[in-house]
Amino acid sequence: MLECVLAAAAQGLADRLGATAQANLRRAPDDLERLVEAGLYVRLVKGAYVEPPDRALPYGEETDVAYVRLAHRLAESGAEFALATHDGVLREALLAALGPRPVEQLLGVRPETLDELAVRDIPVRVYLPYGDNWFRYWMRRVAESRGS
Ligand SMILES: Cc1cc2nc3c(=O)[nH]c(=O)nc-3n(C[C@H](O)[C@H](O)[C@H](O)COP(=O)(O)OP(=O)(O)OC[C@H]3O[C@@H](n4cnc5c(N)ncnc54)[C@H](O)[C@@H]3O)c2cc1C
Repeated sequence: MLECVLAAAAQGLADRLGATAQANLRRAPDDLERLVEAGLYVRLVKGAYVEPPDRALPYGEETDVAYVRLAHRLAESGAEFALATHDGVLREALLAALGPRPVEQLLGVRPETLDELAVRDIPVRVYLPYGDNWFRYWMRRVAESRGS
């Protein structure tokens, strides 16, 4: 997928594309450099999928620290990016350090946060699953949020 989006960006489509970077992946810093260099919009997430330890950091502090470092790296590079997280501590620490940035959340998760951010003129986007498989997608997300 990364190669696909980079190839499309190289065809002059970078300003119409975005890519999601999972902070928990050990390869994320390298991926991020390539996405930034290609001029792509980046959605920074913690990472939802369980991966072997040689490929990914464990959920929790290590992933959170990686997220903070990558967000700072994105800001330093001047890239356009969104903080796609429902983690209020992480989000507020980064907004305070980096200034206003778009925040993205999943539909139905902590929706009250969106109103609060909008009042502060922070752009918000809501990720909405659609299509025939939306229910399976949604059930998987719910199961993951409960530790499955
Ligand atoms: C816009 C968007 C796009 C995403 N795209 C991808 C992707 O392409 N690949 C990928 O691997 N991951 C993706 N994710 C998921 C992401 O990696 C995290 O797994 C997910 O956002 C939970 O992590 P968190 O940063 O919100 O922090 P967490 O610390 O996990 O969550 C903070 C708090 O938010 C609440 N919460 C979080 N998620 C849920 C939920 N599903 N249901 C109920 N409550 C919840 C809980 O109260 C939790 O304590 C995406 C997330 C968003 C917001």
